[in-house]
Amino acid sequence: MPKIKHIAVVGAGIVGLSSALWLQRAGFKVTIIDPMEPGAATSYGNAGVLAGFARLPFTRFSMLCKIPGMLIDKDSPLSLARHYVPELIPYGWNYFKSCFRYKKMRHALTELQSKAWEADQVLLNESGGHSLIRSEGSLGLFSSQSGIEKAKKGEILERQGQGVNIELFDPAMIREMEPSLEPFYAGGIYYPDTRFTISPIELSRCYTRHFLDNGGCIVREKVNFINPDDQGIEVQTSLQRLQFDHLVIAAGVASKHLAAQLGVKVPLVNERGYHLSIEKEGKSLSRPIAWLENAVFLAPINNGIRLAGTAEFADENAPPNRERINCMKRHAHTMLGDNLDFTSKWVGSRPSTPDSLPVIGSLLNDQRITLAFGHGHLGLTLSAITGQLVSEIVQGQKPSVDLESFSPYRFS
Ligand SMILES: Cc1cc2nc3c(=O)[nH]c(=O)nc-3n(C[C@H](O)[C@H](O)[C@H](O)COP(=O)(O)OP(=O)(O)OC[C@H]3O[C@@H](n4cnc5c(N)ncnc54)[C@H](O)[C@@H]3O)c2cc1C
Repeated sequence: MPKIKHIAVVGAGIVGLSSALWLQRAGFKVTIIDPMEPGAATSYGNAGVLAGFARLPFTRFSMLCKIPGMLIDKDSPLSLARHYVPELIPYGWNYFKSCFRYKKMRHALTELQSKAWEADQVLLNESGGHSLIRSEGSLGLFSSQSGIEKAKKGEILERQGQGVNIELFDPAMIREMEPSLEPFYAGGIYYPDTRFTISPIELSRCYTRHFLDNGGCIVREKVNFINPDDQGIEVQTSLQRLQFDHLVIAAGVASKHLAAQLGVKVPLVNERGYHLSIEKEGKSLSRPIAWLENAVFLAPINNGIRLAGTAEFADENAPPNRERINCMKRHAHTMLGDNLDFTSKWVGSRPSTPDSLPVIGSLLNDQRITLAFGHGHLGLTLSAITGQLVSEIVQGQKPSVDLESFSPYRFS
């Protein structure tokens, strides 16, 4: 029986849910606190890709040089709201500094990814989530020959060096695999080992059911303050005070403010992404498909097609940016043709760190508080391994992955 008895997980996104499940299977009593339905925030709207191939941090000098041009180009995947510039200053400075550590970060991400598949298997097997997972691989397409040639000399080689299984496809092969696509592509790459979920929200619901069936408790309230004292960790919600032995902060973008209350400053930003739900008679896809030059993903989700992407640095609650949505619609037409029915649109905030690595670790001055947030573009992919690491940390075990690069204090 573990010495720590009752643990609170703040945040019921995919990271909080996975952490709660791993803690529960280690024998702890676990309460999740979140005012929203589990999985209904950023974890609702993603592209559903368990992107094991994504082992290259965005934080590198070649990317840094491209940023000014991308910000000017209205069709580029990157945009920045003027009101958000002050928030971005600490992020930008740390992004620049992190570029010097690219190889170390790449190694850390590769280590984390190498354990992600197995950690997913555990949660999927135990919760019955496998019915929501498909193993059809994923495609990354280039609309220009120059894009392919450049990638062959750069990213493809780099990923192959990391042990990622990659196959090069010509247009005929792509057409055979995905006949619903318009022939906008000059070629592409296929990741045969990629898995994806056909419904991110159903996966969260499946994890939630499993959590509740095993005695877990969910409190639908917002955490306002966290007060650690000699008796335990007191959590003040919008309605009550609750007492726990240990606390995990997995509150997505809001984690920044909760961590700051406890003296830890992480330059976490809102990297907003959008999705459009698309329907068109006779069109369906078998797997996620990225248009790499524009950083958008088409994915077969909730019995339709979802186009997800863009990186917009803006306040979490700012209204959706019409230009971003129009730009995505143009991409959708290029990829799927005319007469598309856009049935819904969504915007949500990725919790992004300057070095593309999540924060996973305990407070130095209070080991009873563990942080698990900042997964940026890879929250679904890295949720289960994060949960496993959280449970190892709480139990005082040697973590399966060296956590130095994920330290909450690396930006101090
Ligand atoms: C367009 C788009 C496409 C993406 N595609 C992919 C993909 O294909 N693969 C992939 O791996 N990742 C993808 N991502 C990233 C992924 O969705 C996120 O990294 C992930 O959802 C973050 O999960 P989370 O649990 O940290 O945060 P969230 O899902 O945002 O959950 C945080 C929770 O904390 C709660 N909370 C906040 N403050 C408090 C408080 N004070 N008290 C209590 N609760 C609180 C919120 O209500 C929320 O429920 C994509 C993201 C976007 C935007």
